[in-house]
Amino acid sequence: MIRSIWKDPVWSAVIAAGVIAIAGFVGNYFFGYWPKVTSLAASTWGFLTASSYVSHWVLGLLFLGVAPTILLLLAGAWTLVRRESGTSASWENYTADQFFGLRWRWRYVDGHISNLNSFCPNCDFQVFPYQASSYNFIDRIGFSCDSCKSSLGEHDESHAQLKSKVERFIQQKVRNGTWDSSSSA
Ligand SMILES: [Zn+2]
Repeated sequence: MIRSIWKDPVWSAVIAAGVIAIAGFVGNYFFGYWPKVTSLAASTWGFLTASSYVSHWVLGLLFLGVAPTILLLLAGAWTLVRRESGTSASWENYTADQFFGLRWRWRYVDGHISNLNSFCPNCDFQVFPYQASSYNFIDRIGFSCDSCKSSLGEHDESHAQLKSKVERFIQQKVRNGTWDSSSSA
């Protein structure tokens, strides 16, 4: 509808004339008042920048009156900033992730990873490794879930070596900022 009117040469000429007339009217209206506006602005500026002679105790009272307002504003801004940084995903919220077919959870104690435990990725039951090698001198561990009976894979290393590797993967993700807080649960 509007497009067809706009394409019509008569209508578009009428609309153009109307727009020009309105622009001219508005321009005249405001430029007629322009000198008044500028003089008002100038006198206001003059009033604001003029200095008056007051006793220092008046200034003191003014300062005392304004200080709580400034402190309140600063306190408000500070709590806002604190809250922002708190919600904007601190790496300390990253306390769970999947590595080597297992779900791992941990805590941070003085910035160090602690209480690193493994869980079944299917049913979230805590799992411990079993010795998967028949020879004691060969480090080979496996995980299986006692709750849902899932077989959770075997590893050619000791439990300590596996946990150390997981810890280093966690630290790497924290350093790179590639951890995802949504994986924490
Ligand atoms: Zn399970």
